[in-house]
Amino acid sequence: MTAPQLAEKSEIRGKEMERRSLKDVARSYWQMGLAVVPIKLKWDAEKQKWNNKPLCDWSQWQTRPQTLEEFEAINWENIKAFSVLLGKTKDGYYFCCLDIDKEDFDLGLLRTTYFERTIGKGIHAFYRSRHPVEGMKRHDLGIELLGMHNLVVVYPSWGYKRLNDNEPTVVENAQTLFYDLIAKLGGELKPEAEKQIEAEAVDTWLLEKWLEQILKSGKLKIAGGNAKYYYVHCPFHLPDRNPSFAIHKLKFYGVDYHDGQVYSLKKLAERLGIELGGSKGEGFRLGAFKLEMKGKDVFLINQKNRPIYSCKLHLLNSDKVKKELSQLTDLGKKEIEEKIAAFLFQLENEDKSRDIKERKT
Ligand SMILES: [Zn+2]
Repeated sequence: MTAPQLAEKSEIRGKEMERRSLKDVARSYWQMGLAVVPIKLKWDAEKQKWNNKPLCDWSQWQTRPQTLEEFEAINWENIKAFSVLLGKTKDGYYFCCLDIDKEDFDLGLLRTTYFERTIGKGIHAFYRSRHPVEGMKRHDLGIELLGMHNLVVVYPSWGYKRLNDNEPTVVENAQTLFYDLIAKLGGELKPEAEKQIEAEAVDTWLLEKWLEQILKSGKLKIAGGNAKYYYVHCPFHLPDRNPSFAIHKLKFYGVDYHDGQVYSLKKLAERLGIELGGSKGEGFRLGAFKLEMKGKDVFLINQKNRPIYSCKLHLLNSDKVKKELSQLTDLGKKEIEEKIAAFLFQLENEDKSRDIKERKT
């Protein structure tokens, strides 16, 4: 045989090997109880990314297993790639994948497991979760959790590489890994939470005080943190060996990774049985009304918790304001006089203790 003939023969054998291994690997997924779907990988020049188009209808396998006949009917001789339909496996785990669309990603940020390099130079990290896994996406960070009913292209599809020989790690709840990664990448755990917290309209000064009080209560086990978050062992899903709760240091909300629940500090304290200190100048009853400070303004709050009157703090002691408050609250001039004096006195004391605290830190 001539050299070119030999080369051609070994190339054919190489292709056969490739095909066999493609089908072999696919079979091992099928044996786990997962459906496999042949796909065509195509470069999308416009979006500058690889597209994968399923080569057969796969929707029926979302509700029932793929039969052996269906598996064998796939044209294994002619395909170069396939994907796995993620979901529950025969041994009762939920097979899922963290999809990271970053070329320079630090694998050290992830719980170690079986990793693949994708054709788009991203990372696929495969896990077996005891809890069902809902897919989640964060475009801003280039990460996605692929779960129930999602397709994921796997090795040895064309362009995909194994990065190790590990078995996919068993985890309690793969969703917690997703939130963990968001926090570690410095992202906002729940971008929509901020508005929710703002709606509670509590002074930042008071929020800081509350956070300190919660942290000092001893009811949370803090495991670490970064510039933005405290990482905490989730108090609502014990035992939580891998801290799956975080508190935003600057935006004052907590997130439970297990269920994505957002907690304002008020709500968190309530659930933990911590009684928070009052708001600035709070507890000042004017008959059926309340006086409260917000920023540099004083508000008169009615029984429905609505502000009905406001003035600058430095004007509170003026005759004009006292007269107006007397009219609004139906309280006599003397009583108003006393209440306002006590109110200003308390504010002064609060400011003093705050100054002392700030000087200490
Ligand atoms: Zn939890």
